[in-house]
Amino acid sequence: MLSRLWQNLIKLPLQWVLVIPFVVQTTSIVGVVGWLFIKNSEQATEDLARQLSRKITLSVEEKFQSLANTPYTFLGINQLMVENNLLDLTDFEQLEKLFWQQIQLKETVDSLYVADKTGRFLMVKAGETDSVHIRDKDQRRLIYGLDDQGQRTHLLDSVQYDPRQRPWYQTALKKGIATWSPVYLFASEPVLGITSAVPIYANRKLQGVLAIDLSLNQVSKMLRGFTLSPNGIALIVEPSGAIVASSLDEPLYVETKVGRKLLYGLESQHPIIRQTLENLQSTYGSLGQIMEDTHLTAEINGQSYFVEVKKLEDGYGLNWLMVVALPAADFMTPLYNGMRTTVLLGLLVLVVSAGISLFIAQRISRPIVRLQIAADAMAQGKLQQKITVNSVAEVNGLALAFNFMAQTLKQSFHTLEQMNQTLEVRVEERTTELQQQVEREKVLTQQLAAANQELQNLANIDGLTQVANRRKFNDTLHQLWFETQAMRQSLTLILCDIDFFKRYNDTYGHPAGDNCLQQVGQILHQTVARALSNYGNVSFLVARYGGEEFALLLSNTLPGYAHEIAKEVQANLAEVAIPHETSALPHGRVSLSMGMAHQFPSPYLSPLTLLKRADQALYQAKEQGRDRIILIAPARAKSVSEKLF
Ligand code: GH3
Ligand code: MG
Ligand code: MG
Repeated sequence: MLSRLWQNLIKLPLQWVLVIPFVVQTTSIVGVVGWLFIKNSEQATEDLARQLSRKITLSVEEKFQSLANTPYTFLGINQLMVENNLLDLTDFEQLEKLFWQQIQLKETVDSLYVADKTGRFLMVKAGETDSVHIRDKDQRRLIYGLDDQGQRTHLLDSVQYDPRQRPWYQTALKKGIATWSPVYLFASEPVLGITSAVPIYANRKLQGVLAIDLSLNQVSKMLRGFTLSPNGIALIVEPSGAIVASSLDEPLYVETKVGRKLLYGLESQHPIIRQTLENLQSTYGSLGQIMEDTHLTAEINGQSYFVEVKKLEDGYGLNWLMVVALPAADFMTPLYNGMRTTVLLGLLVLVVSAGISLFIAQRISRPIVRLQIAADAMAQGKLQQKITVNSVAEVNGLALAFNFMAQTLKQSFHTLEQMNQTLEVRVEERTTELQQQVEREKVLTQQLAAANQELQNLANIDGLTQVANRRKFNDTLHQLWFETQAMRQSLTLILCDIDFFKRYNDTYGHPAGDNCLQQVGQILHQTVARALSNYGNVSFLVARYGGEEFALLLSNTLPGYAHEIAKEVQANLAEVAIPHETSALPHGRVSLSMGMAHQFPSPYLSPLTLLKRADQALYQAKEQGRDRIILIAPARAKSVSEKLF
């Protein structure tokens, strides 16, 4: 039902029937493959981005650990030297030389200093110009420049300073082991940093505190040294949320009345830093709640970020969090570029394939359309059609078959036309023949009818007198007998016999007798016909009964009127007066004796009854002297035997 509806509604040209499925198929394949490619690429890129951000985080941690551990290596060596009496912490001259040599070894170790409980202090510091800071018995901190051999040049500055008040000194003493100081503002230069410090004891007596500074600028510099993704950030924060180091360029301190303080992440001018930390805080309650390394995907500034959090802890009391946030877009951009290229390539493939399929469809459909036009033209009777060959084998085969068919059809039509003409001629000839035959048959039929009529006449007419013969008389008697019986009418029979006819023959000869018989027959017929011409409902018959006897049959005629007709016959015969000189009657002419019988036929009587009685009447007429009419009364049926007779 649907397919029929579809067939009725959709009548697409062949070209589109060929192109549409191809384009739909290509579009579907390109679409599905493209979609799968994008989905897989997205997943793969996300996995890759996460791996990369972890790798970056691990690298940063490794670098930081190296940065944070190096001071303790230096401090440990010096501590060992002191404990093994290889180094005297009171011998500042020796220490100055040794410290200067040590700070030349490692770029990240740019200061090395010592202080004791008396307030003596020695620091060798690297910088644009190396310097040595010394606080001796005069309680002031004197700063001398050092040349590239570590020799003092001149006094650079002199400031009030007591190392024992400094955070690093107090923390080291408080803990009694190697430790990090909290973040504080350095005295040697106004920067924030932490100090690794180790108190050195001999016989439980403090010899001094050895220390190396690590400025937060160094940590930030280290962070900036990493190649993150283009818009990624790396932060090191305290659990309180204060920023220790950042890969972004921003002063990480604020000036307050009580001095320079660390900048809190939520106060950063960079929204990414703010939102990253806000996100972490809202996820974990506070940064202090983060107990282990973690990672998450966060919506920051309307973009998706991969956020890695790493706890930075060492055995010296450091407890920071490293946060690396990398925008997914940094990783996705190449993917999106690839996607754009893929989509463009897909469209290109689609356009090219659609073009190719259109070209092919036209190659196929054009000859078919030509074929259709040619077929239509043929259907209209233009048989002179020829299709040019085509490079598509099947279409070419179709064109050749069509041409062959057109040729064959043309020949067939030609042959048919010839046959038609021959047939027409034959039909015409045959029609003429038939018409002639019909004409002949018509003539024959007429002749046959005439012959039949003739035969009929011959069968019913007496050849001599031309009145009905005995056979006709018998048939008519029986016919009228039953007709008058059915119609309850009467039937009258008059038998007429020429008187002394033997003598006539003898007198005049047999041919004259024949002639006489003809005359008497004519007179009888004419007289009866004339007498009954006005009686439409009366049937009559004049017949030669045999020899010189005639019979006259009248239906539906009263006996009186029949008698009148008989008398009229005699009158007419008398009038004609055929001479008969040997007649025994005195008038010497031919005369007739007549016996008449009248009867209403009934089922109990037979026609023979009528005949017999008429014959009796005729006999009586002869007996009584001839040339007369005798009527005999009707018979009554008495028994079945009479009927049968
Ligand atoms: P009656 O008055 O008693 O009738 O006498 P009749 O001579 O007429 O009767 P009869 O029966 O003795 O003779 C009949 C004759 O009629 C005999 C026969 O020669 C003649 N006849 C019968 N048929 C024909 C015929 O066809 N032609 C001619 N010319 N004569 C015929
Ligand atoms: Mg007779
Ligand atoms: Mg006679």
